[in-house]
Amino acid sequence: MLGDDALAEAAFAEIEEGTPVDKAWVAALDGQVADYAAAEDEYFRARASDLADIRERVLDHLTGAERTRPPAGAILLAEDMPPSRFLSLDWSAGGGIALTGGSPTSHVAMLARARGVPMVVGLDLDLAQVQPIDAALLDGEGGRLNLSPTAAATEAFNGERREAAVLAGQWAKYLMKPAVTANGERVLTQINVAEPAELDRLDPEICDGIGLVRTEFLFHDQSELPDEEQQFGVYRRIVAWAAGRPVTIRTLDAGGDKPIAGLSMAQESNPFLGLRGIRLSLVHKQVFRLQLRALARAAAVGPLKIMLPMVTIPSEITEAATLLAEEVASLQTAGIACRLPALGIMVEVPAAALAVDRYDAAFYSIGSNDLTQYVTASARDIASVANLNDTSNPAVLMLIERVARFGRESGREVSLCGDAGGDPRLIPLLLQAGVRNLSMAPTMLARAKAIIAGWQPA
Ligand code: PEP
Ligand code: MG
Repeated sequence: MLGDDALAEAAFAEIEEGTPVDKAWVAALDGQVADYAAAEDEYFRARASDLADIRERVLDHLTGAERTRPPAGAILLAEDMPPSRFLSLDWSAGGGIALTGGSPTSHVAMLARARGVPMVVGLDLDLAQVQPIDAALLDGEGGRLNLSPTAAATEAFNGERREAAVLAGQWAKYLMKPAVTANGERVLTQINVAEPAELDRLDPEICDGIGLVRTEFLFHDQSELPDEEQQFGVYRRIVAWAAGRPVTIRTLDAGGDKPIAGLSMAQESNPFLGLRGIRLSLVHKQVFRLQLRALARAAAVGPLKIMLPMVTIPSEITEAATLLAEEVASLQTAGIACRLPALGIMVEVPAAALAVDRYDAAFYSIGSNDLTQYVTASARDIASVANLNDTSNPAVLMLIERVARFGRESGREVSLCGDAGGDPRLIPLLLQAGVRNLSMAPTMLARAKAIIAGWQPA
């Protein structure tokens, strides 16, 4: 592919204009990667990752930066890992992540969960003292890392893996069936999508829809913000995958622990309490309008709903609704196919959970990750307070119960799309709190459905 002159043509043109070589190369390749990713034909879509790989490898040569590319299947040991680094690595051959920092509800943990990559955080380990080794044992479920495994430890570990495989086989029987409790009550189970490439490996039959698409992936590690066409191509592809099932796409939730160059604020003393989510979108209105246009166009293809992150006051919904209506009107005037999607909100700020009846939205999805960190005043990405950052805290559960009750009484849809939705320890508590619509990482579905099947109201 590199031998094809057309590949670098756009980059050379930019360089002539004075753009630095590395930037010109990335911009040229990003455009082509996006075109392939949005192609109708599956074969062409699959070429997007080849081109992305070429982009990265040429970039390494251009910048002289020796990016460490771990060998396939390696366990990465580090203090922390940004989500963009996770997304830039190839996990198809397995591998795992062991961090001395981090937290189970950080965004990189969420990505790892979605891919089924074993990950352990908050390890009590001095990285400077770690010697070169050939093999290590990583237990993502048990939160353990053994850097000097004996033959006996390896044997025991492999025994545990076999037992885990037997359990996974039992849960797998539930995967293709709708989730139903022991007393016959139906529970909707949807999936969270962090990057659309995940969907290529999944059968839509496993779920009742997509409860959350985190659109941050579109903006990560890009030299430019994605344009309307690029976004439309991606959203349309997700809606097509769902084959008629509802798809909830969340508008950009930048800021907090998901900084996006050129958009989010660089110097906030407390980014989780700063300009993030809908707050940031309402500041960068042109970027927001573009995303709303792309979403309204994809809504013409299938049942797409728009969800706003981090809603704190009701007027944020009205402001977003006005912008959405304006963009739909402008698309209609231009004769571009579109539809006005239902506009819902994340309930993840305590203010919204406490006074949920004052927030007029088409639907509500409880973001238990952020709700928990704000209610317990324990950041989701700080390992030393991970014991406090607990969704089973009665105060958090009381708020979840309140929102679920509001949904029942007002006849509005309430779901939950934080990590708690797929957590075997928390699922019974969420059902007890009245939640009947859970959205989770696809790798959590089979076990979650098995747990739901065994649940009876207390
Ligand atoms: C949440 O906060 O629970 C949520 C689903 O959003 P995110 O994890 O992307 O902040
Ligand atoms: Mg959130």
